[in-house]
Amino acid sequence: MDTFVESSWYFDRYCCPDYDTKPGLDRKKLDYWMPVDQYIGGIEHAILHLLYSRFYTKVLRDFGVIGVDEPFTNLLTQGMVCKETMRCKEHGYLFPEQAVDGKCHICGKAVIIGKTEKMSKSLKNVVDPDYLVKKYGADTLRIFCLFAAPPEKDLEWSDQGVDGAFRFLGRLWRIADEYLEDIKGVAPANGALQLEGDLKSLRRKTHQTIRKVSCDFEDRFHFNTAIGDADLYFFLKSSTLHIHIHACIDGHNTGICFIFYYTMIDHFIDRCIICHYKTFKSPFFPENIC
Ligand SMILES: [Zn+2]
Repeated sequence: MDTFVESSWYFDRYCCPDYDTKPGLDRKKLDYWMPVDQYIGGIEHAILHLLYSRFYTKVLRDFGVIGVDEPFTNLLTQGMVCKETMRCKEHGYLFPEQAVDGKCHICGKAVIIGKTEKMSKSLKNVVDPDYLVKKYGADTLRIFCLFAAPPEKDLEWSDQGVDGAFRFLGRLWRIADEYLEDIKGVAPANGALQLEGDLKSLRRKTHQTIRKVSCDFEDRFHFNTAIGDADLYFFLKSSTLHIHIHACIDGHNTGICFIFYYTMIDHFIDRCIICHYKTFKSPFFPENIC
C-alpha cells in the first residue's frame, strides 16, 4: 500500500498509542485531543497528504470511530531549501565538494555557478547533513534554518550562514560561562522589588521582549525575528549596568534569554545548563529544565 495510507491516520493513533482494542483508536482520547492544532508541510507533500488524511477522517467519522469532521485546524505551508548550482562544461553538474577552489575536481576547468534552485539530487546542489552535524552539531543547523527565513518562504542555503550560526552558539555558551559566578546563589528579582532608573528600564525591556517573542512564536511562527528579539544579552551589554551589583536582575534576564532559545536549540541549551548551572540550584531556571 502507498505510504500515504498509514500516514493518513497516524495522528489519531498518537492520541492513544497503547490502546489495543480494534481498530486501535480510543474514542475518548480522540475526543480530547483531535483535531490537530497545526499542520506543517511542504507544498507537494501537503497537497496529497492532506487530501488522503481528510478522506480517512471522514470515513472514520462515518464509522463513529472519531468525532471530528476535519483532522487539522491550521495549515502552514513551509518553503523549500534552495542552493546555487555548480557545473563543469565537460562533467555536468557537480556536488559542492567536487568544486575545489572554484575548479572541477576531475579536469580542473573553472566551475560555472548557476542560478539558485530547490535542492535536488539531479542538480547536485545538495549538502550532506551528516557531515554538517558532525562538524557543527545539529543545533547549529537548526538555528541557521530557523534564522535564515520565515517558515513559509524559501530558504537559501549559505555556508557562511552556517558558520555564523555556529559562532552565535559559541557566544551563547560564553554568556553562560561569564555569568555563572555573578548569579550563583542570587535570588531572582521578583515583583515585590521596587526598581528605579536603569534597572527599571531593563525589567521593562525584558517583559516587552517576552511579549514580542511570544507573538513571533505563537501567532506568526516567525522564529527568524524571535531569535534576534530574544537577544537580551546584547541589551544587557549595551546598558550601563554594573553586572556585579545587579547580578540578580542580570541573572533573571540571562535565564529568560536561555529559556527562549530552549524552544529552538534544545540540545545545546540543555548542555549549557548542565555544564554551567547544574552544579548549584539555579533560581533562574524552572525545576523541570534544571
Ligand atoms: Zn570537469
